[in-house]
Formats: sequence, structure tokens, C-alpha cells
Amino acid sequence: MSQRTLVLLKPDAVRRGLIGEIIGRIERKAGWTIAAMELRTLGQDTLEQHYGEHQGKPFYEPLVAFMKSGPVVALVVEGERVIEGVRRLAGPTDPIAAEPGSIRGDFGTIVRENLIHASDSEESAIRELKIFFPGLS
Ligand code: ADP
Ligand code: MG
Repeated sequence: MSQRTLVLLKPDAVRRGLIGEIIGRIERKAGWTIAAMELRTLGQDTLEQHYGEHQGKPFYEPLVAFMKSGPVVALVVEGERVIEGVRRLAGPTDPIAAEPGSIRGDFGTIVRENLIHASDSEESAIRELKIFFPGLS
């Protein structure tokens, strides 16, 4: 079942020079392809839409500030079971709980600065892809 997912390499990944490493891990998975990719700095409106489900939580405001703190790399990744697959490559939200071998497990320590966002379901992927790549057919 081929799918599309939205991936964001967060400002910490860009600042730390890890985008090649992370994209390389995604790229090496059999049959997955990058359908779109862009370096961009996100604004308040985009982040409010993207992280709307977290509005009101204690980590929400610092999360949005962090996500605006530098450019991100936004990607559309396409391929077999890619939604679950990229989530598994990323590892759990808290990098200390993430297994070595996962992106967060290998490179992260701080919950907020956990390097990567990936859509968590088909429904989220459709919603998030519309926010970041509205022109994609
Ligand atoms: P995920 O990105 O794994 O889907 P969530 O959707 O729960 O995680 O949270 C969105 C993002 O908010 C996380 O990736 C992380 O950057 C940040 N975040 C989540 N929980 C916390 C927390 N308890 N403290 C600080 N930041 C958090
Ligand atoms: Mg999430």
C-alpha cells in the first residue's frame, strides 16, 4: 500500500548538520522516494495549524517558539507503508526512551528538540500535507 507522509526535519536537525544523515536513512529504505523537499522557516499561522491538537498544553508555546527558531526541511516521502515506517525510524517522542538505531534514539536527548516530525496516521498525513504542500497533486 503506497502512501505519502509529511516529514519535518526540525530546526535542531538543521542547526546540528544532521539533515543529510536523517534524509539518508529515509532514502535507503527500499522503494521509498522523496516526492517534494524544501528548506523553509515556518511562521506562527502554519505552526498553529500544524500543532493545533496541542494548543493549551504546557509544552505548546515553547514548541512553537522552537519550531520558528530556524529553518526546517519539509519533505513529502512516498512509498510502501511509509507513514508507520517513518514513525518507526524516528522512534518515540522522548529521545531518551527511543532505542539506539532510531533517529531520536541516536541523536536526541531533549523531548522538545527531537529532530523530526512525521505524520502519525493517514488522516494526519492528508491534513498536514495540505498545510505544507498545498499544490501537490
Ligand atoms: P510526536 O512528534 O512524536 O508525534 P507529539 O505529537 O506528542 O509527538 O508532540 C509534538 C512535539 O511536541 C514533539 O515532537 C516534541 O517536539 C514536543 N513535545 C511533546 N511532548 C513534550 C513535552 N512533554 N515536553 C516538551 N516538548 C514536548
Ligand atoms: Mg504528533
